[in-house]
Amino acid sequence: MTNKRAITVAKGDGIGPEIMDATLHILLSAGANIEPEFIDIGEKVYLAGNSAGIEASSWESLRRTKVFLKAPITTPQGGGYKSLNVTTRKALGLFANIRPCVSYNPFVQSKHPKMNLVIVRENEEDLYAGIEHQQTPEVIQCLKLISRPGCEKIVRYGFEYAVRNKRKKVTCFTKDNIMKMTDGLFHKVFDEIGAEYPDLEKEHWIIDIGMAKMADTPEIFDVIIMPNLYGDIASDVAAQIAGSVGLAGSSNIGEECSMFEAIHGSAPRRAGQNLANPSGLLLGAIMMLQHIDQNDIATNVHNAWLKTLEDGVFTYDIAKGGASVGTKEFAEAVVARLGQKPSTLKAVDYTGSPSQRPIKYVRKENNIKRELDGVDVFIYSTKPTDEIGQALEKIAAPDFNLKMLSNRGAKVYPGGMSETFCTDHWRCRFLGNKAPTQADIRNLLARVEELGFEWIKLENLYKFDGQKVYSMGQGE
Ligand code: NAD
Repeated sequence: MTNKRAITVAKGDGIGPEIMDATLHILLSAGANIEPEFIDIGEKVYLAGNSAGIEASSWESLRRTKVFLKAPITTPQGGGYKSLNVTTRKALGLFANIRPCVSYNPFVQSKHPKMNLVIVRENEEDLYAGIEHQQTPEVIQCLKLISRPGCEKIVRYGFEYAVRNKRKKVTCFTKDNIMKMTDGLFHKVFDEIGAEYPDLEKEHWIIDIGMAKMADTPEIFDVIIMPNLYGDIASDVAAQIAGSVGLAGSSNIGEECSMFEAIHGSAPRRAGQNLANPSGLLLGAIMMLQHIDQNDIATNVHNAWLKTLEDGVFTYDIAKGGASVGTKEFAEAVVARLGQKPSTLKAVDYTGSPSQRPIKYVRKENNIKRELDGVDVFIYSTKPTDEIGQALEKIAAPDFNLKMLSNRGAKVYPGGMSETFCTDHWRCRFLGNKAPTQADIRNLLARVEELGFEWIKLENLYKFDGQKVYSMGQGE
């Protein structure tokens, strides 16, 4: 066939090269119309002194082909090495991580024989923004950033995924009873966009009970949309309880580029022994074939793989002590079944199914009226609470009042309790007597410095259209 679709391929580390060779062998035997371009990523690139684990020349291939089939890599121990996965997701704008978690009962043991859910995880923001600072000897901060565009993109993708893949129910997991503004926005956007999909059942669970429910009765879930950190944890739980993390693939979808992979790591102890299960990467590659509109090949490969499981051909991790085959032999068994369908497991049919690409995000203009309401000045101090509070009260005027001091979020002044444990990191909330200016804040900081306090950071307090858009302290 002519005009093969160029794809960028990385064989990765550990078991990566073996499972990638097995996967490509199956795809090419099935007639996939692809032209792999190989790039080096991972351990040897890191150890050659590139802290990102990827060379500049590899970005050129990725940005040109826009499709990345990636085997797992080993991140070397020790500091200074940036996660290549996080870098790739952010650099290429891969905002959606899709992880189908399916049980293959009765062929692969699972406590949840009817499980068939898909986790749609936000992939770029939340605590994974990677913005951490040690602010005082006792306190370190990690910023949780949630944006409206980020929420809208992932929630829209999740609902579209459900429609396109004939799913019936979409669930949202957040912790918005605690993080009312960040997770609250995610939940709100879920409700807003969900209203555009009246035919789908919709529900929201607080993540802790939601995840407990998912681990107990996963069959009640269908598509679950989550912010980044919860999705990272929940998707490993879901894959494991479906049968094995070795059986799950994932796609990382952006508007321009996409990356497809297994969810497991490089399993270095199993490397080079023809033992590893190539199924996770193969299932990732099947998602890639759908993405590049080779649905007939995706259908053929997926059904052949299901038939292989049905016929009891297993690698060691699934055989669990029973008869097993090696990586290469497993791949040959799938190739031998191309053109066949499973009889007990449900056969797939992707022919004619719609594109899995995201709808382009269009930024909306806003004309929100923003005005300053005050400022939270964070200071480093080992002095007693009342001494700090009384001193700052005196210098707040003329532009501000000291509303409160809080320590790790709990209000401790005025009227705190002696039982509350205090660190060396204080938030001093000053509210303006009138709408303050940035110059008023600079003058306030100068007065804080004159008192001998070291301020370590500021957070401006705003009103948007007259509403306070900052959280209250616990007990404020
Ligand atoms: P792992 O997923 O590599 O291994 C966990 C366990 O699962 C091991 O017992 C392993 O033998 C088994 N296993 C995993 N994949 C298997 C397969 N295909 N077939 C058979 N058995 C399989 O996790 P880990 O040991 O925590 O991490 C090893 C390395 O992988 C680390 O350097 C980690 O940073 C890296 N990692 C990379 C990725 C990625 O590149 N996407 C993801 C996770 C971990």
